[in-house]
Amino acid sequence: MKFLCVECDRQMAFEERQLPGDGTLAAAFRCPQCGRAVALLTNPMETQLVASLGVKIGGATLPPQPLEMVRGMVTTGREDAFQDGPSDGRTVGPTWSPAAQERLTRVPGFVRGMVKRIYADYAKDRGIAEITPAVMDTARNELGLEGM
Ligand SMILES: [Zn+2]
Repeated sequence: MKFLCVECDRQMAFEERQLPGDGTLAAAFRCPQCGRAVALLTNPMETQLVASLGVKIGGATLPPQPLEMVRGMVTTGREDAFQDGPSDGRTVGPTWSPAAQERLTRVPGFVRGMVKRIYADYAKDRGIAEITPAVMDTARNELGLEGM
């Protein structure tokens, strides 16, 4: 995970990371050129996702987090596992093939909800009933989402 200073086009340097123990994570990054700082805050579920995905923050992976529940939700493909914020009820949308769900688990937790929504909207717009890796590839090319 990296942050770029848009104005300087430079990679921000990792400054500090805090694991307060309540499941939240705070990390700070600073631009070495202009000194601008950004902070990353995650809630307990996002922290767990980062830990279980082995994402490196500040050159080190997070220690294993105690909540195995979230990983279980991801592997069973429960719809709620990817929802950010409160669910607005069951909207009818495309289903995700197991392979597509598996690919989605490799997207960092912070952006997964957004990425999933982008693909779901894409499929819905085109009347695609099931999202597969092939659909994701096509959508990525058409929407210019390289890396997602
Ligand atoms: Zn800068």
